[in-house]
Amino acid sequence: MSLDPAISQGAPAATLDSSARLLEELCAISSETGDAVGIERCGRRLGRELEGFGFAVEIEKVPSADGVPQPLFEARRSEAGEGHVLVVGHLDTVLPAVPPLRFDDRLQGTGALDMKGGFAALIGALDLMRLRSLDPPDDLMVVAVPDEEIGGPISESAVRRWGDGARAVLVLEPGLPATDGETMVTGRRGLSVWRLESRGRASHSGLAYSEGRSALAAAAAWSAEVQALSNAVGGPIVNVGRIIGGDSEFVQDLGEEHRFVGTSQRLNVVADRCIVEGEARYLTLTDRDRVLDMMRALAEKSGRKWDVAMHFEIVEGILPAPPSAAGADLAVRLVEVAAADGWRLDLESDRGGVSFPNFLPDPAAVPVLDGLGPVGGGMHTRDEYVSLVSLERRIRLIASLLEKLSTNSQF
Ligand SMILES: [Zn+2]
Repeated sequence: MSLDPAISQGAPAATLDSSARLLEELCAISSETGDAVGIERCGRRLGRELEGFGFAVEIEKVPSADGVPQPLFEARRSEAGEGHVLVVGHLDTVLPAVPPLRFDDRLQGTGALDMKGGFAALIGALDLMRLRSLDPPDDLMVVAVPDEEIGGPISESAVRRWGDGARAVLVLEPGLPATDGETMVTGRRGLSVWRLESRGRASHSGLAYSEGRSALAAAAAWSAEVQALSNAVGGPIVNVGRIIGGDSEFVQDLGEEHRFVGTSQRLNVVADRCIVEGEARYLTLTDRDRVLDMMRALAEKSGRKWDVAMHFEIVEGILPAPPSAAGADLAVRLVEVAAADGWRLDLESDRGGVSFPNFLPDPAAVPVLDGLGPVGGGMHTRDEYVSLVSLERRIRLIASLLEKLSTNSQF
């Protein structure tokens, strides 16, 4: 095991301190999703740091989903040639900022964890490398997007655009605390949004019950079956998100007809219509096809059993980003770096939340290291914080990674 002795000697207090102070500044700048002015201020502050490390920073104004231009930041050390190392993160937060606080090991602030802490760790890593006279990769490129928290189109297209042809993709989203250590992410699930339409036959439940065919009962039975397909450890997960059943008018005109909920009116009708909506999450395309085929087959079976028409369809999908063979060596390397520093780095290979790697043109073709940001808690709440111990760990981890990417021609 050959570790980088220069990096694994720990981050000097000054590096950690300036990184933490930068994080306080970034957290104090309000950059709620949609706040183009605040996001630009935050990006310019980060850009000043990157310029100090030889990056040229550009701001593009890109229309968001609602047509309002939002700032998209790109910073490069040199003109991109063949392949580049892409570092990606988002500047937007769910909440507007309140003044940050420090206590114990914690830096509490809006977006401290998700994910301004990741940017602060990156700057700390560049600082540490400079102190150790190490160069980051010449082709390092940093992209900061403004609309990740709403799964916005700018994030998606930025990753498609700059992920294409990248030789490595580093994502600054936070890791998670774990036993004796922390995690980083090597795989993210994809998802399919699905919909089941069920149509039966209405009848009076008192006078002609046997003539009715309950679309609702059939869809409810199907829902329980598909939810039970979920295998929490690694396998696909099915979530039934909504069931709307009743007589046809009720389902069709729910906005108006919901007034019947809580009354006894029309409860004497065998429910002839039902809509079920939900999602399935999976780590591989094989899992995707398997679980969706099973759901479709169960719909056919339930349709026959209950004598109702069931139609199962996929509404939309996001590709999974499974752990890639391309990134495995780098991930193992980082596990060694953490161990040499006295803490345990666990690899999360099936994180459920969709993020940047899911939008890469071919996630399996490029090393993707995700969840590189420091850990903490209270994400998206007023109590959001990062651990300063973790910030120091991540500074060293990212510096080791950048050193590896700048010197090893294999990647
Ligand atoms: Zn985030």
